[in-house]
Amino acid sequence: MTLLEQLDTTLENLELKAVQARLSNLLEQAAQQEPSYAEFLLDTLKTEAEARRSRYLRARLQLAHLPYLKTFDPFDFSFQPPIDERQMRELQTLRFVHEASNAIFLGPPGVGKTHLSVALAEAAIQAGFGAYFITAHDWVADLGRATRENRLDRRMRVYVAPKLLVIDEMGYLPLDEIGATIFFQWVSARYERGSIILTSNKSYSEWGSIFGDPIMATAILDRLLHHSTTINIRGESYRLKERRRAGLIGGREQERGEGLSPRTPLRPNRAAKRRWAPLRPGQRRNFPNPASVVSPAALYIY
Ligand code: ADP
Ligand code: MG
Repeated sequence: MTLLEQLDTTLENLELKAVQARLSNLLEQAAQQEPSYAEFLLDTLKTEAEARRSRYLRARLQLAHLPYLKTFDPFDFSFQPPIDERQMRELQTLRFVHEASNAIFLGPPGVGKTHLSVALAEAAIQAGFGAYFITAHDWVADLGRATRENRLDRRMRVYVAPKLLVIDEMGYLPLDEIGATIFFQWVSARYERGSIILTSNKSYSEWGSIFGDPIMATAILDRLLHHSTTINIRGESYRLKERRRAGLIGGREQERGEGLSPRTPLRPNRAAKRRWAPLRPGQRRNFPNPASVVSPAALYIY
């Protein structure tokens, strides 16, 4: 076996894939530049370390289930003057993730709530944190299914474990008693231990209608807002601006109801309505004892 063949086999056995793939380049470069032994070894090991880091980041990004990949770069802050840029720059430092505090984006459709949440999740992943993104609709459907199938504890770990969890589009559908109780359990489990980013088209005063009960909403908001930053975006829809520029729509009259994606109908369909039925005014709800819904072991952040 030649020296090169032995090298190749050894790299294969050690699973140093990036060095193996670049071996002839690395040797050729070394022959030309004549680095010291230490420099050559460092370059070679860095090749492997960098390749591993980008593989790891790719895997983390996939696990996060981001709906798309967007960063802060293309975000035009001048289009959205209500956003406090200093507040956003502070969030970008990710201190809020280190401190396990929360960020809440409130505003009408199309103003960049999802974009900024995705950009923060992406930045957190780049910084080595675990992150997960889900819409409120999918969160409720998933945990509702898990409850019916008696595997809520196991499923809950998916939403409790990551250091940063984004729940997008809170407020399009109200939660039923079990849903609201699980949400309360979840917020409590993450309290001061893991960060939450929420986006919503509803102001805090309207959250009673999401959770069906003002007392439950207050208990949830109390934990959620204790360590948190709220970014109120009261600007114009960016999607509309682009469509208007393309000449697809005219004046403001045509714009009402814009931005409700087909995934999130304004009125829930019949099945969803039955499962997460909104309360009639004055109706009282009996919330189950939280401890009987999710066991403490399922609420451990690691
Ligand atoms: P929301 O979640 O508030 O409904 P999105 O974040 O989905 O809005 O934004 C809608 C679209 O417009 C996305 O493609 C987003 O990237 C883009 N967008 C929104 N605001 C801006 C902005 N200020 N600069 C650049 N793109 C923006
Ligand atoms: Mg959105």
